Amino acid sequence: MTDAMPPSKFEDADETIEEAATATSNMEEDSAMCEPHDSSTDKTSADYYFDSYSHFGIHEEMLKDVVRTKTYQNVIYKNKFLFKDKIVLDVGAGTGILSLFCAKAGAKHVYAIECSQMADMAQEIVKANGFSNVITVLKGKVEEIDLPVPQVDIIISEWMGYFLLYENMLNTVLYARDKWLVSDGIVLPDNATLHLTAIEDSEYKEDKIEFWKNVYGFDMSCIRKQSMMEPLVDTVDQNQIVTNCQLLKSMNISKMTSGDASFTAPFKLVAERDDYIHALVAYFDVAFTVCHKMTGFSTGPRSKNTHWKQTVLYLEDVLTICQGEFVVGTMTVTQNKKNPRDIDITLKYSLNGRRCNVSRTQEYKMR
Ligand code: SAH
Repeated sequence: MTDAMPPSKFEDADETIEEAATATSNMEEDSAMCEPHDSSTDKTSADYYFDSYSHFGIHEEMLKDVVRTKTYQNVIYKNKFLFKDKIVLDVGAGTGILSLFCAKAGAKHVYAIECSQMADMAQEIVKANGFSNVITVLKGKVEEIDLPVPQVDIIISEWMGYFLLYENMLNTVLYARDKWLVSDGIVLPDNATLHLTAIEDSEYKEDKIEFWKNVYGFDMSCIRKQSMMEPLVDTVDQNQIVTNCQLLKSMNISKMTSGDASFTAPFKLVAERDDYIHALVAYFDVAFTVCHKMTGFSTGPRSKNTHWKQTVLYLEDVLTICQGEFVVGTMTVTQNKKNPRDIDITLKYSLNGRRCNVSRTQEYKMR
């Protein structure tokens, strides 16, 4: 199935990107969440290294991602009928922004669970904005917390990582869903999809990968091997896209199990012009299908940029592809056994073209 991904697929896609104070940053999200840390406010850089969500910087970046934050705001403010008199659980509340939206939309009570030191700020923010009677901030891990109520009507969370699954916070949402959500309860967002396309990227591949072959006259190819294995999180210009965009995997967050986040999916990318292919690019969309009108956002190269950018997987071979020819293969995504927050990706691809015949398997690790 191909996917042209027009941003207008979702209600108010335009509104979510208006006045976009483009939030670009080179800051990499730290994969380590909620590691043991001391609770004093005199934190050192080492503390932040192990617990980046305790620092306001990462929350600033997320809040300034208006595609992300405005979509959640629209979902809540434009669908008040969902929230009226409902008990809401905010999984990984951060600054408490989603809880505040829900409280303002008329939720009966909101439980905001946050494991990092930012929970203390969320508590203060809730108080400063007069919502202490509606929002209860609970500091701790979702997996360890005692919720004061047996059940909730709605679970809301912004759990998505790079390549959708990096950081693996989805497991935490599924854990909360299975433990506390009423049987007819809703999960927001309730749909996430992963997509794949192929790009021309000679300049950047030269700069990021081939660079290691000759560094001031020295051969550092051993590092090239490592750089090939590491998916690159960066923005891709839509003019670089050579093929269609293929839906790789669709996840129903209300029904799936954590095992469904590991999968093998086939793909077929058909060239839309004669060009060279240097890399495959993965990105995700999320949707809130229970809204009055379909709402969501895409992190694809044809949509307004978000802080998730796209994930670029460089190919060992440069593929010379003619219009109408196709790259076929499979992508296998699995949680790393040693560190479940990391993901291992196996890519099998082949091109049987007039000017190029290639078949190869490549391994990537996101960490
Ligand atoms: N909801 C906020 C923050 C999203 S980032 C917003 O939309 O701006 C995800 C947050 O979840 C981080 O602050 C992180 O510390 C928290 N988190 C991740 N895993 C968690 C867990 N297992 N238990 C509690 N909080 C968690």
